[in-house]
Amino acid sequence: MDCRTDILSLRDALNYLRGVPGQLVETNVEVNPEAELSGVYRYVGAGGTVKRPTKTDGPAMLFRNIKKHLEAEIIIGLLASRERVARLFGCKKEELGRLVQSCAANPVQPVVIDAPAPCQEITRFANEPDFDLYKMIPAPTNTPVDAGPYITLGMCYATHPDTGLSDVTIHRMCIQSRDELSIFLQPGSRHIGAMAERATELNQPLPISVSIGVDPAIAVTSCFEPPTTPLGFNELSIAGALRKRPVELVKCVSIQEHAIANAEYVIEGEILPGGNHVIEDQNSHTGFAMPEFPGYNGPASHECWLLKVKAVTHRKRPIMQTCIGPSEEHVNMAGIPTEASVLGMIEKALPGKVLNCYSHRAGGGKYMMILQCRKTVHTDEGKQRQAALLAFSAFPELKHVILVDEDVDIFDTDDVLWAMNTRFQGDRDIITIPGVRCHPLDPSSNPAYSDSIRDIGISTKTIFDCTVPFSMKERFIRAPFMELDPKKWLPDFIF
Ligand code: MN
Repeated sequence: MDCRTDILSLRDALNYLRGVPGQLVETNVEVNPEAELSGVYRYVGAGGTVKRPTKTDGPAMLFRNIKKHLEAEIIIGLLASRERVARLFGCKKEELGRLVQSCAANPVQPVVIDAPAPCQEITRFANEPDFDLYKMIPAPTNTPVDAGPYITLGMCYATHPDTGLSDVTIHRMCIQSRDELSIFLQPGSRHIGAMAERATELNQPLPISVSIGVDPAIAVTSCFEPPTTPLGFNELSIAGALRKRPVELVKCVSIQEHAIANAEYVIEGEILPGGNHVIEDQNSHTGFAMPEFPGYNGPASHECWLLKVKAVTHRKRPIMQTCIGPSEEHVNMAGIPTEASVLGMIEKALPGKVLNCYSHRAGGGKYMMILQCRKTVHTDEGKQRQAALLAFSAFPELKHVILVDEDVDIFDTDDVLWAMNTRFQGDRDIITIPGVRCHPLDPSSNPAYSDSIRDIGISTKTIFDCTVPFSMKERFIRAPFMELDPKKWLPDFIF
């Protein structure tokens, strides 16, 4: 599959987008990272599940004049358009899931280069008296009630104390003091969290690097989750496959770990053993963390881990990268790896029966998926529902699956809803699976909402089967128009 191999850093991505009309806007007007910056971008291109009015598929925005941070710039919304992600990866927007799936199946491991790397042009150690994360890192608060300044796009990189295998995952981190971050690791979960729990059992700190401002291929592929990338699967190897070149790491200056060599910023530190009692809003007492992908402000956690910072390194005139939790940027970062995972699993179990899938923006990239199914023989009837069950298995946080036929454009919600209106009857085509664990940030996923929900995070998974029964296919042929090239009549019009 074709892909771009000439974008290897955030700066490469921005330079490329400067040459593409409508994909990047830059401003020299001063902006306050405290709620104002996100407030602006909401209107420019946040999309996703952000409170209306917002704009879908707008440009990324580079703020070049940051209040109290004269030496830094902030980029937001780099990945907040599927079209833009496709351009940055060098494929069509419909092909992203399949491209990333093929990369996950053919990983290229990262390599370590000699220090100092570009991310180490400036080095600051936490024992210096004027070291202050608040002053060095222009981390935005996204709404006026956020717990504090958040690092939303930090590539957290750590190594398992037993296996020596490394992992990269994005977690929300809030600045708590001049040399402390809180990091939210969902209990009993995933990757870095499992490492922190094991380090605590061994009563030792877990060294961790946080690389901010990296190649978009790294940002997206870092969001793979089990079962596609089980503990020990270094997702940087997927980005390496995408760029056909290993991701370059460099040795950290203050801890036994590596960081992404061409990042804009690297925060080096240790997750302290047993330190998972940080109250996220201990400084602000707002009760909230930050806006999350379902579109609501997430609650402040009382179980964040303490990340004690040892050093910060960065480029000259560094570019802070941030995203809005409920924006289309999250949809793409969570959704494209999800599509890859679902396609990978269905292709193994039901080859050829699902043509494509889309992690819909209305679910933040996690809750809702549309599967484009193909029935060619009578025994394909019912396999579309089996495909939905496989999708739930490939991505446990998925809540709703909409099944459509191959003549429906899964990226066009109007077309998907057309299928629901003409190929669906509510009494026979809704399949509910109650009492299954899903994702706790859905506010309806709460025992107060329904007797079927025994704990926060449990949901009813639902299949909406909007496919035509195989035996009735001839009754559901869309009105046929003549196939022709309209450019003969409108040569300059973009179709
Ligand atoms: Mn990971």
